Amino acid sequence: MQWKAAGLTDTGQKRQSNEDAFFQDGAMGLFMVADGMGGHAAGEVASKMAVDITCQFVRDFLGEDGMKESNPEKIAEILTGAAQMANDHICNRSAEDARLKGMGTTLSGIFLQRNQGYLFHVGDSRVYRFRKGKLELLTRDHSWVNEQLRQNLITEEEARNHRWRNVITRALGHKGDLDVDTHLVDLEGGDLFLLCSDGLTGMVEDSEIANLLQRDGTDLDEICRALVDAANEAGGNDNITAVLANVED
Ligand code: CA
Repeated sequence: MQWKAAGLTDTGQKRQSNEDAFFQDGAMGLFMVADGMGGHAAGEVASKMAVDITCQFVRDFLGEDGMKESNPEKIAEILTGAAQMANDHICNRSAEDARLKGMGTTLSGIFLQRNQGYLFHVGDSRVYRFRKGKLELLTRDHSWVNEQLRQNLITEEEARNHRWRNVITRALGHKGDLDVDTHLVDLEGGDLFLLCSDGLTGMVEDSEIANLLQRDGTDLDEICRALVDAANEAGGNDNITAVLANVED
């Protein structure tokens, strides 16, 4: 199978800098979003390190075209190892440089190979699949509000506006072993994967995101632009990043 891709990041309306980072390589089949934290400079360093180190690790083990390995379990191990390697580097760097102390980042990615998609995910950035007009969230937010939500202790509406909505329970940059969610999804021609930071999903409802993705024949870059514009029009409280990967028929 083949895929087309596009990505866009934007500072938004309220922040001075953009601490999000993204990566997309259609030939390799690798797509990622990272949302850095720790204040100006530190967050930017963490998110960029996360995507750069993960990309390099995956290239080393899977080759430039991502085809060196075909065993699904092995590929999931490599993606987990890549995120853990990035985590170690971020922890070491923040221990060495006082200005970067406490920096961290989310990392959500998908690796497309043959007829499979391999998800890997830490934090509250998200991966969705849009198939036949339906938007499906494939990742689980590692956030305090989502844990409360899953236990039915708060409502969706409360979660959206909760003052602790930005507290995440898993991130790269926290010392110790990094637990990475991975899972396998099947691919169908026409599938559209959206990877995004919470600067999009915190401002724009899923139903509106689905409307914006439902644009047959529209260029992927234009759809990314429409998603970012929608988040900005809703207030643009945070940095906004959207990456799209479209499986061709
Ligand atoms: Ca964010």
